[in-house]
Amino acid sequence: MTKYLFPPAPVYSLPVQGSDARFPVKRIFCVGRNYHAHAVEMGRPVDKSSMKPFYFIKDASALVESGATVPYPTGTSNYHFEMELVVAIGAAGFRVTEADAARLVYGYAAGLDMTRRDLQLVARDQGRPWDLGKNFEHSAVCAAIVPQGELGVLQSGSIALQVNGHPKQTADLSQLIWNIPELLADLSQYYHLQPGDLIYTGTPEGVGAVVSGDLITGQIAQVGSVALTVGAAE
Ligand code: MN
Repeated sequence: MTKYLFPPAPVYSLPVQGSDARFPVKRIFCVGRNYHAHAVEMGRPVDKSSMKPFYFIKDASALVESGATVPYPTGTSNYHFEMELVVAIGAAGFRVTEADAARLVYGYAAGLDMTRRDLQLVARDQGRPWDLGKNFEHSAVCAAIVPQGELGVLQSGSIALQVNGHPKQTADLSQLIWNIPELLADLSQYYHLQPGDLIYTGTPEGVGAVVSGDLITGQIAQVGSVALTVGAAE
């Protein structure tokens, strides 16, 4: 048995609806600017005819389960919610075609790509990496995974988010600029997708700031709901 200096990192995982087995998480890919109205509100419109999707990555250790209370993060005064459909990968795939993409999908979940918007925008505008703005502790919120089953490849369905019960984001998955097969075909050009990978598919318009004490709730039709309470700063 290998002897370690200190306990190795745990396996991060998510519950699976209808199963007592958990989904072990490998990598967390996130798609930037994948709804036109959100791209516009961020001041960076997307022209699909001349542009490709882009990605950033969060550590699996950033994962937090729906229903948690997390501390207001350090280093920011503009902590934003982003409601997103999460695709959970259950089969390996490299250079897959759009037609073959569905076999990679284990299931779906409702997720929140929590963001230190002030730090992200400073990095973006200075041409620096987004890590401080995007990849921080508790920043990848995810609910239980719903197996693909009869859902197939999701092409439409409402996606919505509220803060303290007040509607903030309301859109439809049909408004994704790059849909699920297109994303899997593209991303698998650059990575060998593996079981356990999660893909946050981007957020619709209406992102905004939350403060300590706020309750964030979100829903995706046929997939489920997610919740997060913002606690006090550490
Ligand atoms: Mn996002």
